[in-house]
Amino acid sequence: MDKDKLEKFRGVLTDMRARIAGDFERAVQAGAEEFGADVPDINDDATRAINRTVMMEIGGKSHETLMQIDDALSRIGAGAYGECMECGEEIPEKRLELLPFAQFCVNCKEKLEKEGPEGS
Ligand SMILES: [Zn+2]
Repeated sequence: MDKDKLEKFRGVLTDMRARIAGDFERAVQAGAEEFGADVPDINDDATRAINRTVMMEIGGKSHETLMQIDDALSRIGAGAYGECMECGEEIPEKRLELLPFAQFCVNCKEKLEKEGPEGS
């Protein structure tokens, strides 16, 4: 992939990351406030368990996306962006425009979804 395109996707990913990170923080905060009234000690195990639950249930999806975006950004840095992590083929640009943090080509994605719980 040429440099201009890489920069374009880097920009898209960076914007997306900022937006999702904001949503994620708001979701965690809203969740923490909802539980907060019943939790006097912020350091006790119950609070930690609730925080984990909030992270998983409210922020889980966006957290997962954030990690995929970070991963894509580091692949841009490493010069490996746009390659399928399964078969090494180039992921079509059309797919990257829809899903800039895509890690797999369509074929491998479908194969992986059929085979295991990953990527559900
Ligand atoms: Zn592939």
